[in-house]
Amino acid sequence: MAFEGLSNRLQSVFSKLRGKGKLTEDDVNEALREVRLALLEADVNFKVVKDFVAKVRERAIGQEVLQSFTPGMVVVDIVNKELTALMGGTQSKLARANKPPTVIMMAGLQGAGKTTTTGKLAKMLQQQNHRPLLAAADIYRPAAIKQLQVLGEQLKIPVFALGDKVSPVDIARQALQHAKDNHNDYLIIDTAGRLHIDENLMDELKQIAQAVSPDEILLVVDAMTGQDAVNVAESFHKQLELTGVVLTKLDGDTRGGAALSVKAVTGCPIKFAAMGEKMDALEPFHPERMASRILG
Ligand code: GDP
Repeated sequence: MAFEGLSNRLQSVFSKLRGKGKLTEDDVNEALREVRLALLEADVNFKVVKDFVAKVRERAIGQEVLQSFTPGMVVVDIVNKELTALMGGTQSKLARANKPPTVIMMAGLQGAGKTTTTGKLAKMLQQQNHRPLLAAADIYRPAAIKQLQVLGEQLKIPVFALGDKVSPVDIARQALQHAKDNHNDYLIIDTAGRLHIDENLMDELKQIAQAVSPDEILLVVDAMTGQDAVNVAESFHKQLELTGVVLTKLDGDTRGGAALSVKAVTGCPIKFAAMGEKMDALEPFHPERMASRILG
């Protein structure tokens, strides 16, 4: 399960702390040293860890906490609140256009789970009684268009495709018109991925964004890649003004670093978490629930 290592380590630190009754400043410092190591081992960005521990220490070392009846629990509560804040505080919801369709552009490196997530998101919207349209604008990966069409058939959601000879910008533009003509209230555009970030890819994504003015630009990143996922998000965000991140593969044994660092490093909220290959394995990301899950 995701975060298992981090979760186990934090739980053992805190059970020691809870067992102590009265706490001294040294007890808190010792616990925070262990928290720091646990976070670093979970591949959380170094600076994020430093700031996080400093914030918790500042709140935990006051007399009020140390002299309370259950200081251990108060410290755990502080950690829980700071972890929640680190991941964005409250749930960050999907934007909605004043005038439909709401346009969502999906971006990400190859293999991150972009096409799968596009299908999952469409299914989630369909279940909320929306009428999404998918657009196949990844004309480079040979099977990408077909993959989206197969998902569309499976989900009974229409897919707008013009083959691989029309430019992605034109596909996006025509898909938007098609959505308007057919009263689709959401348009989700699956764009091309690459193995690495390159200039051509970024230029193409910028042009698509210019052509259809998306309400959301969601970057799909693979949580298993830890710090790399955060670096990818940072690079994309510098060029594209992302509105949100989708973390995939949280069902694997990811160490958790990406989930805990993305918001702090990029300023971009995590909007969804994907926890499996099946079409229903997508959930809105709730920072407070994720923090509680990590702390057990
Ligand atoms: P794309 O290149 O970014 O479009 O990636 P795909 O959507 O084709 O996904 C790449 C692989 O990752 C596929 O085998 C998916 O089934 C798998 N995948 C996507 N999301 C998840 C997830 O949340 N959990 C797991 N375990 N696998 C996933």
